[in-house]
Amino acid sequence: MNLEFDVIIVGGGITGLATAYKLTLMHPNKTILVLEKEKEVAMHQTARNSGVIHSGIYYKPDSYKARNCVAGRRELVAFAKEYNIPHDICGKIIVATDPSELPHMNKVFNNGVANGVEGLELIDANRIKEIEPHCQGIAGIWVACTGIIDYADVARKYAELIEAKSGGKNKVLVNQEVIAFEKNAYSTLVITKTNRFVGKKIITSSGLQADRLAKKEGQKSDAAIVGFRGDYYDLTEKGRSKVKNLIYPVPNPEFPFLGVHFTRMIKGGVECGPNAVFVFDREGYSRTAFSFKDTTEAFGFGGTWKFFGKHWRFGLDEYRGAFSKRFFLKRLNKLLPDLQMDDIVASRCGIRAMALSPQGDMYDDFKIEKNGNALHVINSPSPAATASLAYGNEIALMATEFFNWK
Ligand SMILES: Cc1cc2nc3c(=O)[nH]c(=O)nc-3n(C[C@H](O)[C@H](O)[C@H](O)COP(=O)(O)OP(=O)(O)OC[C@H]3O[C@@H](n4cnc5c(N)ncnc54)[C@H](O)[C@@H]3O)c2cc1C
Repeated sequence: MNLEFDVIIVGGGITGLATAYKLTLMHPNKTILVLEKEKEVAMHQTARNSGVIHSGIYYKPDSYKARNCVAGRRELVAFAKEYNIPHDICGKIIVATDPSELPHMNKVFNNGVANGVEGLELIDANRIKEIEPHCQGIAGIWVACTGIIDYADVARKYAELIEAKSGGKNKVLVNQEVIAFEKNAYSTLVITKTNRFVGKKIITSSGLQADRLAKKEGQKSDAAIVGFRGDYYDLTEKGRSKVKNLIYPVPNPEFPFLGVHFTRMIKGGVECGPNAVFVFDREGYSRTAFSFKDTTEAFGFGGTWKFFGKHWRFGLDEYRGAFSKRFFLKRLNKLLPDLQMDDIVASRCGIRAMALSPQGDMYDDFKIEKNGNALHVINSPSPAATASLAYGNEIALMATEFFNWK
């Protein structure tokens, strides 16, 4: 195999793969290599998310997120139809359970209208009951264009097409953990645990390791990644009869997470969650996982302490939910009062990569940094899976300009 490529992309999650797919279509004459450290692509955030095709309703009008979520969702649904990827545009309800939530609920609705989200409807308590008979709310929003999909399926299809559409010239290689970069005047040597590849240009898109990969390549980013675990519960057969599709609370405007919700999964079953708990191990998928390196790095970064200082109350609640099923259920009961302990069983979790600033603020939007011959995707938060084709396109266009490709 040729070991020299026009561009090497580090990270085979949905963002890196969508970027490689778009570059493959835009630049048929360039050679592209994606390096993924795990034994399969998309094993971290991409495979461990809620599997929701977001509408674009939540985001500030005209933000990068809003534009790319709406455009990316439409493109994703067309892509899923074209390649027969199972999905279902089943719609969802966002439900207010307390009068204090109504101003923010209305703001979310107005954002959706401004963002061009189709099929939005303000609904009353009776209509909520018609859509989800077990759900109790005082008012809500019906979001017709929300759907469900398995994002690992989508990422695998991108990987297949990167090779197929380039006649096999472009490659996606797994079991290739990048451990170092050596830069010279015209290219970069990319060193993995077992191989050495030469890239004329580099893109890193490595999710939970994004800050480390960027730093290894020589980028002096002021952002640091911290992980927030989201635990899910499965609904038992009895519990499942209480949820038809997707039920969301009105989100807390102070925080970038959507709140624990109910999601019917495309491959069967209904999940509820995820909460948002600071983790001591970026890729440790258990409630007690601990990594000395991850913990010392997180606490050695001033932004982490400032973040905790601002959000300690919210954090404590999230911790209680992580260790107490009863507490978790209490939160769910706000939406579904008749849900009981034996309706839910603990299941999987996912860890979100959140980029923090030195001031302790979360970067809420996509963040890409440039350095010499390299682009670094530092932050690719939700709805990056929904918006993957749109973000992939944005990064590919940015790369075309920055790399001076025709
Ligand atoms: C709990 C949870 C729920 C979510 N729900 C939704 C949702 O419903 N809808 C939605 O649109 N979005 C959702 N998201 C967000 C979405 O999943 C992420 O924004 C998206 O998957 C990010 O993709 P990524 O490619 O940037 O990261 P990842 O999927 O994490 O991929 C990064 C890849 O880089 C690889 N890598 C890291 N270091 C190296 C290295 N040294 N060498 C080689 N490879 C490396 C990793 O192994 C990994 O495969 C959710 C996220 C989480 C965690």
